[in-house]
Amino acid sequence: MATDSRLDEVLERLDAGLPEAIERLKAFLRIPSISTDPAFAADVRAAAHWLREELAGVGFDAAVMDTPGHPMVVARTPAGEGRSLLFYGHYDVQPVDPLELWNRPPFDPQVEDTPEGPVIRGRGAADDKGQLMTFVEACRAWKSVHGALPPGLILLFEGEEESGSTNLQPFLRENAGMLRADLALICDTTMYADGRPAITTQLRGLMGEEITVRAADRDLHSGSFGGLAANPIQVLVNALASVKDAEGRVTLPGFYDGAPELTDELRADWQALGFDSAEFLSRVGLREPIGEKGRTGLEMVWNRPTLEINGIAGGYAGEGFKTVLPAEARAKVSCRLVGTQDPDAIRAALRAHVRAHIPADCTVEFHAHGNSQASVMDTSDPAFGAAKQALTAEWGREAAFIGAGGSIPVAGDFKRMLGMDTMLIGFGRDDDRIHSPNEKYDVESFSKGARSWARIIAALM
Ligand SMILES: [Zn+2]
Repeated sequence: MATDSRLDEVLERLDAGLPEAIERLKAFLRIPSISTDPAFAADVRAAAHWLREELAGVGFDAAVMDTPGHPMVVARTPAGEGRSLLFYGHYDVQPVDPLELWNRPPFDPQVEDTPEGPVIRGRGAADDKGQLMTFVEACRAWKSVHGALPPGLILLFEGEEESGSTNLQPFLRENAGMLRADLALICDTTMYADGRPAITTQLRGLMGEEITVRAADRDLHSGSFGGLAANPIQVLVNALASVKDAEGRVTLPGFYDGAPELTDELRADWQALGFDSAEFLSRVGLREPIGEKGRTGLEMVWNRPTLEINGIAGGYAGEGFKTVLPAEARAKVSCRLVGTQDPDAIRAALRAHVRAHIPADCTVEFHAHGNSQASVMDTSDPAFGAAKQALTAEWGREAAFIGAGGSIPVAGDFKRMLGMDTMLIGFGRDDDRIHSPNEKYDVESFSKGARSWARIIAALM
């Protein structure tokens, strides 16, 4: 158990070692580990080996483990008495084009001074090499103060996160015994707006469905057949329009089963974030929040399920005009899911609803696209409160439990396949330009990120 004085020493060690830590990160960033482009396969492997060497140098038992694609890097410390932790990050990066929009070579990283403070510029600086190194640097400082690494740590670094994580699930399945811990930590997200530290504790799931309605056996002339023959576009839009009521609620029977109300703690946390729906929408040229009446903006994007029509096609939509009753119409529909909503049950309810709107001589065909439940972490586990306090102490601003409207599949995989909850704690900022030219990571994010992990390790061990 770490005493506070030793934590202070670890933090001092991190501060004193910051210049060397930045040099190590720059060396890592110089390796062009672009996972999606086969031309860089050797570089991806080189990045894995660089990381393994670093981790072994810090004192981990570290290995590069092959998969049918790019390798995994796994490092561990001996089991201890306390809580075991699995830390996840990824060492692969996105492609760099268009190259001409970079203000420096993407794999020649440098520290640049900007009006907002110094930043480390280069591909992967924020996503995710800089972020994963915050944890490695915290471990390094811990070791140099305590003489040993924290026990019960497992580090897992993936090399295919930016290219579909094809081999992650099989790897987790085959190595479940080695990877299972009491809790997972992922450092691949941003802080809440304007640099407020946050722990993401819930992620929405996803259900996707493609619907094809067919009527006549050919396209029809609207003068000869219009008014008599079924129009599949009309059939489809009727079915989809009645999926929501005037209050913005989805009408499918059982749709809200498993969609939980906010706890008092989360409601208070989210209130304190001061989210302004109108301001948020104004960034995309909108003003008026739409959606369920009586819900706050953050509830709508983090804690309420959605049903959206993402695409619709049929008939003639080209230049000019053509008076046609098309033979078929198609739509793509997706739902973001929360709590314990069951994607299969919702898919079945949507299909039943559409079938009920199909005239007898039309047909409908369904095609499933993706299926994942929401991930909701158990924040009553004291580890969550302890990590929140640690972040608050480091940043001097109240840390918050937040949600994410999208999905981060690895967190769901950890839950389903290894039975672990995940704390998603990232130090990125909204202007880091990840996946874009001129990616950067603030030196403050790097430095205080490592300090944050030292505090969190001290609090959780
Ligand atoms: Zn990432």
